[in-house]
Amino acid sequence: MYDLIIIGGGPAGITAAATAINQRLETLIIAERWGGQTTYAMQLEDMEGRETITGETLLDAFRRQLDYLDFVRDFDTVTKVMPVEKNFVVDTVRGDRYEGRTLIMATGAKPQRLNVPGEARLAGRGLSYSATTHAGLFLGKDVAVVGKGRRAQWATAGLARKAHQVYLMAPEPLPDTPLVHKLRQRSNVEISEGVVVKEVGGERFVENIVVTMPGGEECAVPVKGVFVKLPRTPNSDLVREWINCDGDGHIIVDVNCATNWPGVFAAGDVTHVSEQALVHIGEGAKAAISAYHYLLMH
Ligand SMILES: Cc1cc2nc3c(=O)[nH]c(=O)nc-3n(C[C@H](O)[C@H](O)[C@H](O)COP(=O)(O)OP(=O)(O)OC[C@H]3O[C@@H](n4cnc5c(N)ncnc54)[C@H](O)[C@@H]3O)c2cc1C
Repeated sequence: MYDLIIIGGGPAGITAAATAINQRLETLIIAERWGGQTTYAMQLEDMEGRETITGETLLDAFRRQLDYLDFVRDFDTVTKVMPVEKNFVVDTVRGDRYEGRTLIMATGAKPQRLNVPGEARLAGRGLSYSATTHAGLFLGKDVAVVGKGRRAQWATAGLARKAHQVYLMAPEPLPDTPLVHKLRQRSNVEISEGVVVKEVGGERFVENIVVTMPGGEECAVPVKGVFVKLPRTPNSDLVREWINCDGDGHIIVDVNCATNWPGVFAAGDVTHVSEQALVHIGEGAKAAISAYHYLLMH
């Protein structure tokens, strides 16, 4: 019987495991692989002297703490999680079954890609999935944001404070919210609704985004950056039947990363907390400390 089972080996899961081990909890972390979605850096033509810290670099110190403790980790896929009395039983693809007194869900979310020519080739060369991390590299430049939901709106608002011009390319009409209203009033934000992205163009770095406008005309909009902010699917299926989730499937947690189910905590992109590796490193540590406090009291 483990004190704590953590599912997921991204920023949230890795820091949760390192924190739990420091508290001397009998810990098991189960993940398909280390690192989750933290693996690329941004390079731009004129970026000399300006660098972003990659998720990998941030995580490295925590991961190294786990690397030599092979008894705390299992690289496998979890297929089932069940509450059994006050504990939790976890089954994996390879047929292992583990039991824990507490559980941290750190399973992340599935990103939605554009799936157009140029996307994979120019990722990290002007094409980004994180405005929080990369907006500062586009000071005074023209950029495009693709998406329509809350994440796309936040990215547009953030970029409008730094970039010269922001084109928000929404696949469908935007909802009527106070933030969308504000965006419509900004002089350096141009919103197009009902747009289909055909290609991200550029030889070594992003040079344009090719779109079909609602009227049917195709155009190449010159930009130095493209931010993909399409909806993502939280990996919460394992617990969705018995843990409270929001309408999009994010696990609902309180400020201590506790779910509605005693002994179950969640951290990272699987929750509704906004996504950034740096934030989830802290969320994972917080979830582990909450699990530790729970064990002290039960
Ligand atoms: C393409 C892309 C680029 C990004 N760029 C940046 C960036 O530049 N800067 C930044 O701060 N953020 C960036 N983000 C966001 C950031 O990577 C995420 O917010 C962060 O990785 C979330 O951490 P996490 O631990 O919650 O989940 P993840 O990193 O997604 O990790 C989830 C883990 O759970 C495991 N898992 C899931 N289901 C199971 C299962 N059933 N059994 C076993 N294991 C399972 C996975 O294998 C993985 O190890 C980017 C995201 C994407 C998709």
